[in-house]
Amino acid sequence: MSSERGRLIVVSGPTASGKSTLWRQLIKREGVDFSVSATTRNPRKGEVDGRDYHFVTHEQFQTWVAEGAFLEWAEVHGKCYGTLRAHVLQSIDKGNDIVLEIDVQGAGQLVDCDLPLVTLFVLPPSREILEQRLRDRGTETEEQIQRRLSIVEKEMSFAGDYQHQVVNDDFERMEAEVEQILGYRTEAC
Ligand code: 5GP
Repeated sequence: MSSERGRLIVVSGPTASGKSTLWRQLIKREGVDFSVSATTRNPRKGEVDGRDYHFVTHEQFQTWVAEGAFLEWAEVHGKCYGTLRAHVLQSIDKGNDIVLEIDVQGAGQLVDCDLPLVTLFVLPPSREILEQRLRDRGTETEEQIQRRLSIVEKEMSFAGDYQHQVVNDDFERMEAEVEQILGYRTEAC
């Protein structure tokens, strides 16, 4: 527990850019939490309610919107996603950093939120490699893949709004770069 307030570490990037692998590594550190978002989409194979997301009904989500329970929320790929305010405040008030894996709309809502914020955008080395990674993942139908690819260009156009842009050409190299940005490691990478 630290006397200093922790930070919100916002991680965004197009689908299959490697941002999930990145945050999973970051939260292995002591003092780094993950913000479990609420969503109205269905769980994918292997996902656990309360660990990956809070999977909720559209009605529950709207109630939380009305109650102001979200620090930010947005509609992505036709489903609602939101960051639970109480969870984030709890982490940073005890001095922990908390990672938010959220889309560009949500990140835009946090810019003026008055909380300590570090924003990172994960870029794939190329669109072709991103498409290949998405197909290799095998978790989406062809229709879902096409829907996700159609918004990649738009998402990428927001990269410049982030404090840091990192390219996932080599995962370990990128991870080291991010740890340096966050002050988790001091040596040059
Ligand atoms: P997925 O369905 O692949 O888990 O996530 C789809 C998109 O929703 C990703 O771009 C992810 O970053 C975004 N997302 C996940 N949680 C949140 C959230 O709480 N708020 C916002 N704005 N986007 C989120």
